Amino acid sequence: MVATRNPGKIRELRSLLEGLGYEILSLDHYPSIPPVEEKGETFEENALEKARAAARFTGEMALADDSGLEVDALGGAPGVRSARFGGEDLSDAQRNRLLLERLKGVPMEERRARFRCVIALVTPRGEEYVVEGACEGYIAMEPEGGHGFGYDPIFYLPSYGRTMAQIPPEEKNKISHRARALAKIRVILEKLAGGGS
Ligand code: IMP
Repeated sequence: MVATRNPGKIRELRSLLEGLGYEILSLDHYPSIPPVEEKGETFEENALEKARAAARFTGEMALADDSGLEVDALGGAPGVRSARFGGEDLSDAQRNRLLLERLKGVPMEERRARFRCVIALVTPRGEEYVVEGACEGYIAMEPEGGHGFGYDPIFYLPSYGRTMAQIPPEEKNKISHRARALAKIRVILEKLAGGGS
């Protein structure tokens, strides 16, 4: 099962894990499962905490992820606080504005940043696996593009000369932090499926 209610993540995972013989169930399948607060100081702690809780509650193999944006000039912020940066009530556009404000006057070469995604897998027997994927780039001077979500409009990819929100979703799904982490977890799930777990 996958410890998320995000339909986009479930869809991505179903397509990626096709053919391995797993049935993918989301949190919606377990309405009484208690919510897990993301209290950790690292993506790994949060992903593991969510996967452990889900495995414990459901008795099934559980996957959970945590992701966010790290900006070097801000000492790695917003990091694990990416979804809450500037306060819970801000829109994505307001959060992006705030981040650009914090980087005012910082030249392009010092605006290095990365999206990071950690996926944790916990088996019913308590075995734990953690993988990570990253996507490197820079924080743009201005938001550009209408695809994607979150910080995509201000995340500039030098190899494309465009922001993450300007490239088509199929392209993003090949290079994103989540795609890279998912490719690694697929390898582990293949081994576990082969080993009869
Ligand atoms: P979560 O892992 O779903 O909790 O996501 C944390 C936050 O990181 C999101 O709310 C976004 O602000 C940001 N984030 C994660 N992945 C992406 C992405 O692919 N594009 C833009 N923002 C992202």
